[in-house]
Amino acid sequence: MKLNANNFVQLSAVAVRDEVLQTAVTRATNGASGNRVRAMREVSEAHGEALRQQAAAAKRRALHSLPDLLEQAEARMQANGITVLWALDAAEARQHILDIARRHQVRRIVKSKSMATEEIGLNDVLETNNIETIETDLGEYIIQLNHEAPSHIVAPVIHKTKESIRDIFIREIDMPPTDDAATMARYARGQLREAFLTADMGVSGGNFIIAETGTLCLVTNEGNGRMVTSVPPVHVALIGIEKIVPTVRDYATLVQLIARAATGQKLSVYGSMVNGPRRAGETDGPDHVYVVLLDNGRSNIYTNPDYVEALACLRCGACLNTCPVYQAAGGHSYGWVYPGPIGAVVTPLLNGIENASPLPFASSLCGSCKQACPVDIDLPRMLLTLRRDLVQRGTQGRTWGVGMKLWAMGNSSPTAFRLGGKAASLASNAIHLQTLPGPLGGWTDHRTAPQFAPKSFREIWAEKNSNR
Ligand code: SF4
Repeated sequence: MKLNANNFVQLSAVAVRDEVLQTAVTRATNGASGNRVRAMREVSEAHGEALRQQAAAAKRRALHSLPDLLEQAEARMQANGITVLWALDAAEARQHILDIARRHQVRRIVKSKSMATEEIGLNDVLETNNIETIETDLGEYIIQLNHEAPSHIVAPVIHKTKESIRDIFIREIDMPPTDDAATMARYARGQLREAFLTADMGVSGGNFIIAETGTLCLVTNEGNGRMVTSVPPVHVALIGIEKIVPTVRDYATLVQLIARAATGQKLSVYGSMVNGPRRAGETDGPDHVYVVLLDNGRSNIYTNPDYVEALACLRCGACLNTCPVYQAAGGHSYGWVYPGPIGAVVTPLLNGIENASPLPFASSLCGSCKQACPVDIDLPRMLLTLRRDLVQRGTQGRTWGVGMKLWAMGNSSPTAFRLGGKAASLASNAIHLQTLPGPLGGWTDHRTAPQFAPKSFREIWAEKNSNR
C-alpha cells in the first residue's frame, strides 16, 4: 500500500500484524526510553527537570527572535566563508543542491543522516540526474539498499531485526554470511570507506546553527557526519530555518539534552562544528561550504500561535520511543518522513491538514510524549487543536459531529451522565455486545466493546454511606 498519511488506519492495521516489525520496534523503543530515563536521572531528578526547562526556554527564546537570528546567522556564516542560500520550498532546495553539484562537476555524493533531505526527496532527484548518492549513516545505508523509507527520526531502520539486515547485506553487497552484528557493521563500513574517499561532494543536515558565531553544529554517533563534512572538496548542509540558536551557551545547554533524550548518552560520540571551508595553512576540510536554509512551510507554522512551539523540536525521537501508538503502528504507517507524535503534528502542518487528517487522532493523549520531550513541547495540546481544526472544517462528517454533541451533553449534565452510565451498564451486562450497532460500529471495528461495571462508583458510595 502506498505510504500516505491519509492511509494511516490501513497501514497501521498491516503493521500490527507484522511480527518482525513488532518485535524490532518494541525492543528498540523500550530500550531507548529506558536509557533516556536513566540518563536524565543521572543528572538527578531536580536538576534534570531544571536542565529540561532551561533547554525549553533556550528554544523558545530563539523562536521569539527567529527573523533577526536568521539574518545574524547568515551574516556570520558569510563572514566565515560559507555561501548561504535560502529555499522557500522543497523544489527550490533541490534545485539549489543540484545547481551546486553541476557547478562542481559532481558525480558522486556521500550523505550523512538528514531528515530535511528526506523531507525534500533529494536522493531521487540526484539519482535522476545521474549523480550517485550514497547514504553513510549505517541505518540509512541499510534502508537505501532495501529501497525503503526511514521509519524513525533517529533510528531509521528500527523496524528491522538483525536477521533481516543480514539478509539485505548478503543480497545487496555480497556480504559473506554471518550473524555477528559487529562483523556485519565492519563489512558495511568497509564499503562506505571507499565512498568517502572518492566522493566529490558531501551532503549533511545540521542539528543547530549558532547565530552569534555562524557555526553549523552536527551531533552523530558513527563519525560519518564528520567524514561527509570534511573529506569531499564540497560540503552542502540543508537545514530547517528553525534550527538557529542565539549563542554558544544555548548550544551548550541543548547539546547536553539531545543525546540523553535520543539514545540515553551524556553526549553524542561526535560533535562537529563547521565554521567554514578550509583556510590557508589547514591540511583538511572542504574547499567550499554551502548552507541551504529550508523554509518549506515553517514560516506558516511560525505565524500561527497555536503551533509555533512545534518548531522547537530537536528531532531527538524521544516522543516516538515512548508513544504507545508509534510502538504499535511503526513509523511507515504515518505515511511521511516524520512519524510518531511530532510527525502527527508537523505532517498536517507542513503538508496540509487535509493530506494527513487521521494523524491528529493517532494518539491516546496519554501525555507521555510531552513528559519525554527534552524541550517540553506540548504535543497533546497541539494534537487536540488539530482535531478542533479538522472538526471546524467539517472533514469529520455529520455522524462525528452529532456523536460529539451527544457526548458533550452527557458529560456536562450530572443527570444525563448518570442515566447514560446506567443505560450502558444495563445494555452491556444484559446483551454482552462484542460490537456496537449502527454508526457506533466503527468504534468496535478494531476493539471489543467494554463491559461496564454493574454498579457505578456513586451507587457503591451511596450504599456504603446508607449502611453507616
Ligand atoms: S517533539 Fe520533543 S521528543 Fe519529539 S522529537 Fe521533537 S524534541 Fe524530541
